[in-house]
Amino acid sequence: MVTPDVVIIGAGPAGSVAAALLADAGFSVEVLERAHFPRFSIGESLLPQAMEWLAEAGLLRDVVEAGFQHKNGAIFRWGEREENFDFRTKSTDGWGTTYQVRRDRFDDLLAKGAMRKGAKVLFGQTVTAMRPDPECPCLTVRDEEGHEREVKARFVLDASGFGRVLARLLDLETPTSFPDRMSVFTHVEDNMPVQNYDRNKILISVNPNNNQIWYWLIPLAEGLCSIGAVGMPDHIKPYGATREEQLAALVAESGLMSELLVNAKRVRDVGEIAGYSARVSSLTGPGYALLGNAGEFLDPVFSSGVTIALKSASLASHALVRHLNGEAVNWQTDFSEPLSRGVDTFRAYVSGWYDGSLQKIIFSKPGDARQVKAMITSVLAGYAWDDENPFVRDPHKYLKMVEELCG
Ligand code: FAD
Repeated sequence: MVTPDVVIIGAGPAGSVAAALLADAGFSVEVLERAHFPRFSIGESLLPQAMEWLAEAGLLRDVVEAGFQHKNGAIFRWGEREENFDFRTKSTDGWGTTYQVRRDRFDDLLAKGAMRKGAKVLFGQTVTAMRPDPECPCLTVRDEEGHEREVKARFVLDASGFGRVLARLLDLETPTSFPDRMSVFTHVEDNMPVQNYDRNKILISVNPNNNQIWYWLIPLAEGLCSIGAVGMPDHIKPYGATREEQLAALVAESGLMSELLVNAKRVRDVGEIAGYSARVSSLTGPGYALLGNAGEFLDPVFSSGVTIALKSASLASHALVRHLNGEAVNWQTDFSEPLSRGVDTFRAYVSGWYDGSLQKIIFSKPGDARQVKAMITSVLAGYAWDDENPFVRDPHKYLKMVEELCG
C-alpha cells in the first residue's frame, strides 16, 4: 500500500480546507472521517475574514453558489438596549460580508471540494491510536465493521474538532482559562415576517436578569433559524428538567428574540454541548500538528470557531508544503505563534464579554465612537490577526481605555 504524504483526522472545515490546499500543492492526502456526511454540526455563523481562506483553498465558489443566507453583521440586544454592528464599516481591508450556513451542507461541500482537488476522503473511519514519529507517524483506524488497520504517512494533521483525538491519545490536554459552560440549541422554522428582522444579521441577546446567560439567533436560508442559549450549568439547569424545557423557558425570557419566535416551530431535537472550552500544551509534535478545535476552543460568543479553524489550516498547510519539500520548518514560529496571536485577541474579547466590560462597551456609546467602533467591528468580523489595529495589538489596554470612557 502506498503511504500518503499527509493523513488528516476529520473532514470538518479545518480538515477539508487543509486537504484542498495540500492536494492543490501536489501532495497525496487522505482524510479519515468518523461520520458520514452530510451530518449536523453546530457553528453556523461565519465571519467575513474566513472568506479569505476559503478563497485561498479554491473553495469559495462552492460556498458562494450554495445559496446560504447572506451575512453582513450582528445585532446585540440587552432588554431594550440594542447595538448594530455592520461588518462593512470595519477598519481592516478585506471581506465585509459572509454567510450563515447549515453546517451539514457547508461541511459536505467543503469535503467534496477537497475530493475534487484530489484528496481522498474516507467516511466511517475512526482514528483510535497514534504513534508519533518525525519521519513516519502511524495511526490506528477502525472501520464500521470493527476492523482495525494501521495507516502511515509522512505527516499527520489532527482536525478532529471536539473529538480532540491527539489531545486525548497523547495526553496534551491542559486547563483553559474559562470555566465549563454549556449550551442548549436547536433549529426552528421561524415564520418571522420579513419586515420584523434583518435576516442578514445574527442576533446576540443577553438575558435581562443574568448577564452570564446569552442567546444566539442565526437566520439560515429557507426560513430556518438556529437558536441557542449559553451559560453556566448552575444557571441553565434550573430552567427545566429537560433540554427542551430549559431552552423554551430561557427563550421566553430573552426579550426581542422571544417576540421574533412567537410563531416558530422546532424542527429538530434540542442538542446540548457542555464543557466545550479546551486547550492543549502544544499544537505540534514529532510528525503532527493540531488544527482548529482539535487544538483549542474558546467560546461560541463571537462566532470565531470556524475562522480560527480555517486560519490554522492555512498556516499549517503552508508550513507543511515546505516541510514535505525538504525545507526546514520551525513549527513554533511558522505555525503555533502566528495562530495564537489571533486566538489570544479573541480570548481577550471573550474574557471581556463574561467579565461584563465588553458588554458595557457594546451597549454604551464611547467617545470618538465611530473610529473605535470600526476597529472593534474589525475584530468582530474576524480580523483578529490585523496588527495595524490597536484593538488587536493590545486588546486588554484598548478595551480597558474604552470601558473607562464609557463611565
Ligand atoms: P469540527 O467541525 O468539529 O470537525 C471535526 C471532524 O472530525 C468531525 O466531522 C468529526 O466527525 C471528526 N472526528 C472526530 N473524531 C474523530 C476520530 N476519532 N476519527 C475520525 N474523525 C473524527 N463557530 C463558528 O464559527 N460560528 C458559530 O456560530 C459557532 N457556534 C458554536 C456554538 C456552540 C454551542 C459551540 C460549542 C461551538 C460553536 N462554534 C461556532 C465552533 C465551531 O463549531 C467549531 O469551532 C468548528 O466546527 C471547528 O471546526 P473543526 O474543523 O476544527 O472541527
